[in-house]
Amino acid sequence: MKQVRLENLVPDHIKHFEAYIPSKPDDELKKLYGCSRLIRLNNNENPLGPPKASREIIDRFPPPHASIYPSGDVYHLRYKLADKFGLHPDQFLVGNGANEAISFVIKAFCQEGDNIITADKTFAVYEWVAEFSGFQAWLVPLVNFGFDDEGMLRQIDERTKILFICNPNNPTGSYWSEGRLRDFLDRIAGRQIVVVDEAYCEFVENEDYPDGIKMIHEYPNLVVFRTFSKMYALAGLRIGYLVGDREVVDIIRRTCVVYSVNTVAQAAALAALDDQEHILRTRDMVRRGKEFLSKELELMGLPFVNGQGNFIMIKLPMSDSLAYRKLMAQGMMVRTMTGFRFPNYIRITISKMDAMEAFVESLAKIVPTPTPRRKD
Ligand SMILES: *Cc1c(COP(=O)(O)O)cnc(C)c1O
Repeated sequence: MKQVRLENLVPDHIKHFEAYIPSKPDDELKKLYGCSRLIRLNNNENPLGPPKASREIIDRFPPPHASIYPSGDVYHLRYKLADKFGLHPDQFLVGNGANEAISFVIKAFCQEGDNIITADKTFAVYEWVAEFSGFQAWLVPLVNFGFDDEGMLRQIDERTKILFICNPNNPTGSYWSEGRLRDFLDRIAGRQIVVVDEAYCEFVENEDYPDGIKMIHEYPNLVVFRTFSKMYALAGLRIGYLVGDREVVDIIRRTCVVYSVNTVAQAAALAALDDQEHILRTRDMVRRGKEFLSKELELMGLPFVNGQGNFIMIKLPMSDSLAYRKLMAQGMMVRTMTGFRFPNYIRITISKMDAMEAFVESLAKIVPTPTPRRKD
């Protein structure tokens, strides 16, 4: 057999890029770690499952429809979103998860030699898509666990095309207030595209948290990401979207491959949008879970970072990969944070109370009990 001359075929930026290794399927993990249960606290999934109306759509999907291509431009959902937010349907671009929208934007605006700017400790897909596409990603260190606006502005050069802000940030839960985001956008003054990733916006109740979508008419260089994976619990169907000024979205649309969003996802997402009760129930679960967990972590003497969103980051007195293995042996799946450049931290998805109690029990078995303070 002839050899393929890969070294001549593969671009340098691909040669130096390592593939992301996703976790194995649940049944394989159970065998591997010898555990009989598996509680997934690793992906910020919503354990309450999809809203009722979405469940009905999924339940009643007529199998013969599987042979028909979906709407190529996700027509009904875009009209519904336009109605909900008071914008034009062409201002929305729906993707196979918000992840796909990240590559739409980068492909639309970057060419050889260009760069994007984001934080060093945030959702890694912005950085990855830029790098495996052959562009630079400048990573500005977080300050006090939050995005550093001044640092990002200083980092801009003549080849910067896009700035990515995760608001609230995964994994720290920090967020920019409306004032801070406005100030940042004012100083960018339309010179670059500013992406605000609002994957967790439905979890935030604070008054000063900005709704990026409401700001698009004032800042046409602003592009907002939303997803149905987190609050709406449709992660397995893969659907998310971006919103922006019509001219900007018309450009981004050129980089989309149609039919990437399946029929069931389109219908289930549309149905999900009206369920306010689902949001309130989920927020309630997250509030209780966080209250319980923070109390327990304090008792254990473990530092933690508890911001907005359905997750908490915990600092452990051991390596996160060791903790991962020890927790997995007890059927508890968490996210190691070394990949997010937070060594010795794990991130926990807030779940129902029984799962939170089981997690605390497992954690207590792997961390030394704090020595009681001497009273002298
Ligand atoms: C989960 C997540 C996404 C990706 O969502 P999908 O729609 O499932 O691709 C995007 N951004 C952040 C910050 C996330 O945590």
